[in-house]
Amino acid sequence: MSLLLKDRVYTMQSPTAKRGVYPLHGYKLGLYRMPIKLEDPAEIQSIFQGLKNTFEMDMYADRIYATYNWIEENMPDPDAKGYEQVKLSVTVEIVTGEVVDIIYQIFSIEKFGDPQWVKDYRKKADHFAKMVIDTILRNTILSDKMVESLTSLEKISENQALIKLEELTPLAQIVPDAKPIAKIEKPKPAVAGKKQVIVRDGEEAIPGPIDIEYKDKMDQSTPFKTSTGNMVQTWGRVGADNKVMGVWGEFCSVDFDICVADGACIDACPVGVYDFFEFSGNVASTKKPLQINEPDCIFCLACEGVCPPQAIKIYPQ
Ligand code: SF4
Ligand code: SF4
Repeated sequence: MSLLLKDRVYTMQSPTAKRGVYPLHGYKLGLYRMPIKLEDPAEIQSIFQGLKNTFEMDMYADRIYATYNWIEENMPDPDAKGYEQVKLSVTVEIVTGEVVDIIYQIFSIEKFGDPQWVKDYRKKADHFAKMVIDTILRNTILSDKMVESLTSLEKISENQALIKLEELTPLAQIVPDAKPIAKIEKPKPAVAGKKQVIVRDGEEAIPGPIDIEYKDKMDQSTPFKTSTGNMVQTWGRVGADNKVMGVWGEFCSVDFDICVADGACIDACPVGVYDFFEFSGNVASTKKPLQINEPDCIFCLACEGVCPPQAIKIYPQ
């Protein structure tokens, strides 16, 4: 049972409805209103795109429809008239706006013909509708909005709100990558790759100091291997030949294209954060101090202070 729907706004069995064409007499309609706003077309698209491999998705005007199909097979009822299976479905509709309404209606079984076949039809349709709603609320950008709403309305922490959302949506299926838009993902870097290229001994390199906004300005590379097999993923790496290596580090950051490998940071660091590794092909130097023990950093800033080309930036945590 979806707990979210226990306090459903109301259940109707009448020809009236808030908006749209609802429902024919005797159909069951579940309507749940959530105090979250959904108006940005990119966010609406995100929900549609995020679930298109999980449910049959459709969109019309300000509404998104998610349909779950299932098949009932080999019904034992003697009135089954030889049929071996029947295809059934339930559709959940998300009405966007200042608040989000999630609506589903369960058609009377006559819609599918030979009603006696389908044992517990309404119960199953109700269950699947709730599963669809729980899945939408747990996986799409609506989960972020729900958490935000719970934290502000109930004055609880983000973690508590996440736990509460999980408790409210026990039927949710896990859908990977169901939030496919830039607004929810990290902001796209304004500048792709490195820009400050200078020529050193006929080759391209960049001058210091390190650009401290590198994570906002540069693209993150795909992971690549060091000579000793460590996997590294920098911001601003171009190509695979180490010519432009980019900046590495979460909070002890080194711009490898500025570093001249004098080893001052290695000598200065009291806790052994850095160690040299070979990177052939880089213009500025072919050895780079990898922050292999970055979590040990005590933020003394010694390395930042001794680096001649100012290739290091420490972000005290
Ligand atoms: S800030 Fe201090 S502890 Fe951290 S890496 Fe630099 S020298 Fe080492
Ligand atoms: S002190 Fe600066 S230039 Fe020297 S090895 Fe460390 S990062 Fe490179």
